Amino acid sequence: CGSVYCPIIATKSKGMAFSLEERLQLGIHGLLPPCFLSQDVQVLRFLRNYELKKDDLDRYVFLMGLQDRNEKLFYRVLTSDIERFMPIAYTPTVGLACQQYGLTFRRPRGLFITIHDRSHISTLLQSWPEKDIRVSFAHSQLHHPVLLHNVPELSLSDKLTLSRVSPIPKTLIPNLYDLHHENNELLKDPLYIGLRHKRIRGQAYDELLDEFMKAITDRYGVNCLIQFEDFANINAFRLLSKYRNKYLTFNDDIQGTAAVAVAGLLAALCITKSKMCNHTIVFQGAGEAAMGIAELIIMAMKKEGLPREQCIKKIWMVDSKGLIGRDHLTHEKERFAHEHAQMKKLEDVVKELKPTAIIGVAAITGAFTEEIIKAMASFNERPIIFALSNPTSKAECTAEQCYTLTEGRGIFASGSPFDLVTLPDGRKFYPGQGNNAYVFPGVGLGVTACAMRHIPENIFLITAEAIAELVTEKDLAEGRLYPPLNSIREVSIKLAVKIVEYAYKNKMATLHPEPHDKEAFVHSLIFSTDYEEFAVDSYSWPENAMAVQ
Ligand code: NAP
Repeated sequence: CGSVYCPIIATKSKGMAFSLEERLQLGIHGLLPPCFLSQDVQVLRFLRNYELKKDDLDRYVFLMGLQDRNEKLFYRVLTSDIERFMPIAYTPTVGLACQQYGLTFRRPRGLFITIHDRSHISTLLQSWPEKDIRVSFAHSQLHHPVLLHNVPELSLSDKLTLSRVSPIPKTLIPNLYDLHHENNELLKDPLYIGLRHKRIRGQAYDELLDEFMKAITDRYGVNCLIQFEDFANINAFRLLSKYRNKYLTFNDDIQGTAAVAVAGLLAALCITKSKMCNHTIVFQGAGEAAMGIAELIIMAMKKEGLPREQCIKKIWMVDSKGLIGRDHLTHEKERFAHEHAQMKKLEDVVKELKPTAIIGVAAITGAFTEEIIKAMASFNERPIIFALSNPTSKAECTAEQCYTLTEGRGIFASGSPFDLVTLPDGRKFYPGQGNNAYVFPGVGLGVTACAMRHIPENIFLITAEAIAELVTEKDLAEGRLYPPLNSIREVSIKLAVKIVEYAYKNKMATLHPEPHDKEAFVHSLIFSTDYEEFAVDSYSWPENAMAVQ
């Protein structure tokens, strides 16, 4: 494929790792410096240059440049130290890059579907060069700098990146929809590279989505996973319930977030030595993340034997207008509206309800004030404080504030990474990062590996339990509620194997015959950073057989 837009070029490139034989056979001899490098040396060369970059945005652009040139090397670099590169390739630096998408854009890395492509999506899908697609990421915004509730959205290609850093089916296709924009500033920006119209709603929007779902499954099969992300709250719930039993699909903002947050809570229960149903949880925020987490908490409580109505009573939510409990609520919020005097301020809610856990998912910087954190520490031996809003600048409190104000008793997790905190008495805490990256790659790998047809909610509880099980006593003692990020590949493989086992046990897998060794089977499906061999198979016959007559 010779097109400069073809994403396959970067996936096949080996740079100076092409052997002489390959260079000759591919007709590129002379186009590369006369030098042969192993991938290990290429990594070292890249890192030497990377270290010269002066800030994180520069590092991001440099890293993504490598992805454009040589994808295998890019993933090899990332997996060489995930903890180091994750904050650059993903949150929080990616948030910054999103805000400057028009500027940092170098090369397209997705399939761009716009409202003007209605009735022609199947034609558009023909443009994607790879034929065997297992996962499709549906992302509502082409223009990554969109600010929804002032939340910079993560870019889709970074999700794709993360899926490969963690082990994931080999073939993915990102899809971007250009139908969702309210940011006037951006629409006027001459460097903006999306369509210049406002958000599309209503029938046209729904028809486009319906067509997309059908076109993807027509082309790639009913076992192609379609992952939704960054769809506005009002559409996200609706689309999830519309498609969840019809297609192999899940919404990462709702279900992925839920799994990672509940994994953190399950790990926290090992510290508090309590059950989920012993807890009272207050959410700051009542959107996609809060609803998803709350539903999964209920599921975990029900598994412990508590009836659903009792579980719901243990969950409280505060939205932009205050404690949920009034009339005129959406269907999602109504479930969590309890009889109670109206309270507007989170401080009052916390002091009144005395929760054991508070979870911040409203993107309100500093919402967990000193007063709130100290109050939590006054009525809990080990208060659970999750500041999940992204990016770092939106966190409800910092890790340092949490550990300092609770004298090291706080059990903390955040959405974006925080550095190690050392208290004046010398105790050290490694804040846990409740990153969805622990979830979507493993779920994606598991459900596609055994060809499930749809994803029941139970999968996300299994996911949360599997992640929590991998947290060691040592991790917990250091404050970590998640396995170290550097082990994310192993976490995802273990998670995928659990899902495959569950699917066969519950007759939800459609791939037959059932693989005997599921772990080996899952391993065989994952993306490898090893270079392919390109030299064509060349051999000769015995001389007499080849003699010219
Ligand atoms: P969303 O669906 O837009 O919901 C935001 C919620 O915050 C809404 O319920 C909104 O209230 C509420 N809110 C706004 N201002 C508020 C205020 N002053 N006080 C209390 N509540 C307020 O967004 P989302 O998808 O749930 O995401 C929310 C945050 O969670 C983002 O920062 C996102 O980055 C973060 N998040 C983190 C992770 C992770 O770490 N793993 C995953 C997903 C999301 P109304 O309903 O009244 O508008």
